[in-house]
This record gives sequence, C-alpha cells and structure tokens, in this order.
Amino acid sequence: METNTKKVVVIGGGFAGINFAKQLCKDKRFQITLVDRNNYHFFPPLLYQVATAFIEPSNISYPFRRMFQDKSNLRFHMGSLVKVDPQNNTVETDTGILDYDYLVLAIGAETNYFGIESVKQNALPMKTIDDALNLRNHLLLNLEKAVQSNDPAEKVRRLNIVIAGGGPTGVEVAGMLAELGRYIAAKEYPEIKDLQSHIYLVDASPVLLGPMSKGSQEEAKKVLSKLGVQIIQNTPVKDYVDGKVVLADGRTIETKALIWASGIIAREVPGIPATAVGKGRRLLVDAYNKVNDTTNIYALGDLSFQTTDPNYPNGHPQLAQVAIQQGKTLAKNLTRSLDGEPMKAFSYYNKGSLAIISKYKAVADLPKVFFKGFIAWCIWLFAHIIPLVGFRNRLKLAFNWFWSFMTNNPTLRLIIRPRKEDFK
Ligand SMILES: Cc1cc2nc3c(=O)[nH]c(=O)nc-3n(C[C@H](O)[C@H](O)[C@H](O)COP(=O)(O)OP(=O)(O)OC[C@H]3O[C@@H](n4cnc5c(N)ncnc54)[C@H](O)[C@@H]3O)c2cc1C
Repeated sequence: METNTKKVVVIGGGFAGINFAKQLCKDKRFQITLVDRNNYHFFPPLLYQVATAFIEPSNISYPFRRMFQDKSNLRFHMGSLVKVDPQNNTVETDTGILDYDYLVLAIGAETNYFGIESVKQNALPMKTIDDALNLRNHLLLNLEKAVQSNDPAEKVRRLNIVIAGGGPTGVEVAGMLAELGRYIAAKEYPEIKDLQSHIYLVDASPVLLGPMSKGSQEEAKKVLSKLGVQIIQNTPVKDYVDGKVVLADGRTIETKALIWASGIIAREVPGIPATAVGKGRRLLVDAYNKVNDTTNIYALGDLSFQTTDPNYPNGHPQLAQVAIQQGKTLAKNLTRSLDGEPMKAFSYYNKGSLAIISKYKAVADLPKVFFKGFIAWCIWLFAHIIPLVGFRNRLKLAFNWFWSFMTNNPTLRLIIRPRKEDFK
C-alpha cells in the first residue's frame, strides 16, 4: 500500500455504495473501508418475487467479501452506523470506530409509516431480504390457517391481503399474488376458491403507478382488474387495528396481512449538522454530492437530496439508476480532485421506468417510446437480469424464471421460521 493513501469509509453497500466502491477501487491511492449492517448486497427491485415465493433470496443477493475478494485496497467491515463525528473525522459503528479522510454515506431509505403507529406495529414492510422472507412465511402460514379454519369469517380474514401503495412495488406484488392465486392456489389449496378476489390494492392517489406515463397507469389498472384484484383509489389507509384495515372513507377490510408499500423516508444519520437535513430526512448535498456544512462528507442515492441538476430542480427520484450514477460520478470526482482537476457536477441520465404487472404483461416508459404487454415484459426481464451481481446469480435467476413462467409451478413455497412462536 502507498504511504500517503487517502482513507475512504463508505457506509452502505446498496446500489450507490457498491458502484462508488467498485469505481474507486481502481485508484490505488485510496484505501477503502466498506461498512454494511449485512454481509451481502441485494437487489431491491426483485424483493417482491422473494416475498411471493417465486425466487430464492440467494438469486438476488451477493456477499461483499466475495464481490471484492481480489481488491487489495478495499476491506469490508460488518457493522451498523451509530453516529458521525465530523470534528474528529471519525464514524462510530456498533462494531467499532473508524477514521476517515473522506466519508461517503449511502445507507438509503427505510419504510415510512407516516406516523400511523398501529400500522408500524402490525403491517408487513418490504424493504429488506428479512422483510421479504417474513412476508413469505406470513402469507403461506395464513393460507394453511385458512384451510384449517371452520369459521367462515376467520377464513376470509386469513385469505384477504391488503396492499397499501399503488406504486411499482404495490402493483408488482398485487399482480404476482393474483397469479399465485390463479395458477397455484387452485392446484395446491383446493379448499380455497378464488384467492385473487381477496387481494386489495389501496392507494391514496387517483392513479396507479403515479410517477409513470398515463399509458402505463391505465394498463396497470386494466390488467390487475382483469386478474381479479380489487383496486381502491383516492383512499389512504388510516389505521390497522384488531385485524381490520381502516380506510379514510370509513370502510374497513378484515385481514391478517397488510403489506405496506406506501412510502419511504431517508435513514437517520446522527451527528450530521441539522442544517443539512431536508425534506423526507434526505441529506442536502451540492452538485458534487458533498453534504451541506461539512468539508469531507458525501451522501449518495436515496439518502441524498440534490437540487443543482438543471433537469431536476426539485431533487431526483429515489431510484436505482440515480444511486448507481451518483456512486460512479463521485468516485471519478475524488480521483479528479487528487489529480488536481476540477470535479464535475452530477447530472442524471434517465434511462426510463419499467414495471411488471403479471405474466407476459409489463409497461415500459423509455425516453422516447412507450411499450406495454409482451415486449415490455421482455424488456423488463432483460433490464432486471443484467444488473444482478454475479454470473451464477444471473444464470440461476434466468433458470428459475424460465421454470416458473413456463410451468406455472415454482417450487419455493417453504415455510421456514427460526422461532415457531413468531406467528399468531
Ligand atoms: C421493494 C423495492 C422495489 C424497488 N423497485 C425499484 C425499481 O424497480 N426500479 C428502481 O429504479 N428502483 C427501485 N427501488 C428503489 C431502489 O431500490 C433504490 O432507489 C436504491 O436501492 C437506492 O440505492 P441506495 O444505495 O441509495 O440505497 P440501498 O440500495 O437501500 O442501500 C442501502 C445499504 O445500506 C445498508 N444500511 C442501511 N442502514 C445501515 C446502517 N445503519 N449501517 C450500515 N449499513 C446500513 C443496507 O444494508 C444497504 O445495503 C425499489 C426499492 C424497493 C424497496
């Protein structure tokens, strides 16, 4: 190692963190420590397929130590951020204190329950692999309980699934669960009739897929309605008590499964100046992703809020491509600054938005053209397999998809619980 290397600590190995680290590793003048509370990177856009037992968690996860095994200037440190001390250039984790010349924060966002405590306590989030596995167990156990119950009201409560949030995640979960009802429940749970009609998709806004084009919004509604999903719009969820989801218009839906896909809030970073914390708890950054009122601390991806990009004066959407591009740009900028060159301002290149609705049906808003149906579905498959880390993961996922879509018979519906008493 060179003697005058710069120490860079990166907290968070999501899309932003790993793309930053991979790029910066190429410059041996930097010694990088990557910190994450998990020992693996994962791919959130496919979490819902884990939650619905369509693919395995290992298809979309990859260990950091394996990812960087041949990088001599990067070390992995497993731990969770506790606080930053900008005066002393140190960062405290629950597994030790690290010092830095540059600190890069990329810990993303967490589920936002909008202050509804009953929802926070009882709903099922879907932000992490743990959440997805918990949801999978919960849904499968509900089916078993529904089959066993002799009480018609209890049966309905166990079968009803309410998804709060009509964005891409809510739409994708609703579509996947409806397909599960149509192709699998009919074969494997003959006691249950018409599982699809028990799926409710509830959204506060008047349209599904809010950030996408009108064509995508209409297609999502049409396809899901056809599949039997009950869509309730213009109606936020207000409460979830005693197994009842309470809607703003007073209606209630009895259910043992409220899936919360409704909103996110940036994760908290104790120690950062209060003047640098903006709307949605996002850290305010300049055109080079440097956090306001700090000298050597940067924030990337979902955690950051940047208004300097001329095309995005109200900040960037919290999307994977923004995180990836910001990570790469910052790494190149740190290299530039060591070379004595000026940094380049970040500018987001929007490659488009995609959402899958059901088997062979998706929507794709590409920069100049809109696709729906089978073509969009093929684009979606391609776009979600290419960015996966690891050739083996891509191959395994391609095989799992091929098997599941062709046979309508995925085989992953295993209920695996570390502790039996977790489920009531
Ligand atoms: C279910 C779901 C579906 C999505 N679908 C899409 C999609 O289809 N298309 C799209 O563009 N975007 C999608 N997104 C959004 C996209 O995943 C995010 O915009 C992107 O992951 C942001 O990247 P990031 O690096 O900022 O944060 P993340 O990818 O969230 O990474 C944060 C990292 O920080 C780690 N971490 C968190 N807290 C701590 C801590 N205290 N200490 C240490 N480490 C910590 C986490 O383990 C994680 O590795 C989806 C998100 C979800 C949850």
